[in-house]
Amino acid sequence: MTSVSGRPQDVEVLTFGCRLNLVESEAMRRAALACGRTNLVIVNTCAVTTEAARQARQAIRRVKRERPAAEIVVTGCAAQIDPNRFATMPEVFRVLGNAEKADPASWARGGVRMCVSNIMAAKDPPTISEGIEDRTRAFLAVQTGCDHRCTFCVIPFGRGPSRSVPMDEIIRAARRLSENGFREIVLTGVDLTSYGADLCGGPRLGELVKSILRAAPNLERLRLSSIDCIEADEDLVKAFANEARLMPHLHLSLQSGDDLILKRMKRRHLRADALRFCAGLRRLRPEIVFGADLIAGFPTETEAMFQNTLTLVEDCGLTHLHVFPFSARPGTSAAKMSPVAPEIVKARAKQLREAGAAALRKHLEAQTGKILPVLTERGGTGRTEDFTRVRIGELPPSQMIEVLIAGNDGNMLEAMVRA
Ligand code: SF4
Repeated sequence: MTSVSGRPQDVEVLTFGCRLNLVESEAMRRAALACGRTNLVIVNTCAVTTEAARQARQAIRRVKRERPAAEIVVTGCAAQIDPNRFATMPEVFRVLGNAEKADPASWARGGVRMCVSNIMAAKDPPTISEGIEDRTRAFLAVQTGCDHRCTFCVIPFGRGPSRSVPMDEIIRAARRLSENGFREIVLTGVDLTSYGADLCGGPRLGELVKSILRAAPNLERLRLSSIDCIEADEDLVKAFANEARLMPHLHLSLQSGDDLILKRMKRRHLRADALRFCAGLRRLRPEIVFGADLIAGFPTETEAMFQNTLTLVEDCGLTHLHVFPFSARPGTSAAKMSPVAPEIVKARAKQLREAGAAALRKHLEAQTGKILPVLTERGGTGRTEDFTRVRIGELPPSQMIEVLIAGNDGNMLEAMVRA
């Protein structure tokens, strides 16, 4: 969860969940300030796990204790999926749906207590919205929603069908951000690889990437947030081979390494597809680094099936793991499947995290002695092109520097800054 200030005259935003929520929080804060709102706290919730929704309710109670006079508006996926759960909280002033939160008019004073439309009926393309991280990188939300129905996931019911921002709007925004000094742009969405399927001519993500790099020749780094490897188009793969400004880092939504579990998740890829994708991109761009989302303890997962997920870490050469112990989401078909015992779920998640830590250490060790370009951030760190964190000492953010990698602490690299 990220938050901003806490001063009464301010609009404070508590953001849970994904980068898309981060970007939208920035847009809501600006819209509320533009409407002259003060003493307002916006809670932008996430519904990816039961725990995320619980934490939002906990934060709402805390905020009301700390700022009794503040108006609390709740929005985001958990509010979209279960608005009454928030509307019945005495601390809550108003509940807005995900479509309503993007409408600047929603932030004017007044309005009904609960304004949540049927997101599954949403058709309008999202408007381009951008978020800034630490004055170093800009996020561009280019797509929202999802047309898939993975059996464990509630996101489609929070975000609605897949909708893409028209390409010309994205290119204008990217060019403006680059001209305003942003050296790195991150494209984000819910199901990024389905970008363009709803637009005239059906432009794909690869075409969007190439068009942005062409339109913003001074942009030094273009990065993608999480993608579905089986939906990566040919142009996108070629762009990784030919475009040095497209960062050699991809976070993959893999979820499992076992084919039967992947089928029960209703994923569109099999283990062999993931192996082929990673090996193929590594041949085209040897320095590429992969991260991945993996679920531990999906219902019906046996020890042998889990071993297929565990060994996927090495077999795909994954470095940055996000491990999710399975948590049943009410209303999903996975919630009706025969569950794995909680202590086994926990133990498998621990094993996966340990495998991830070992893979990260191996990657960090291999960087020692290299000279790498780093984009500086606040707080004495920066990021390499493959998104590895580097300790560099206090430097202004958003500087592109060259460093000599001297070592690592198991989580990030240690560097000597070259003059
Ligand atoms: S692709 Fe699957 S996991 Fe991702 S948002 Fe869509 S339904 Fe959820």
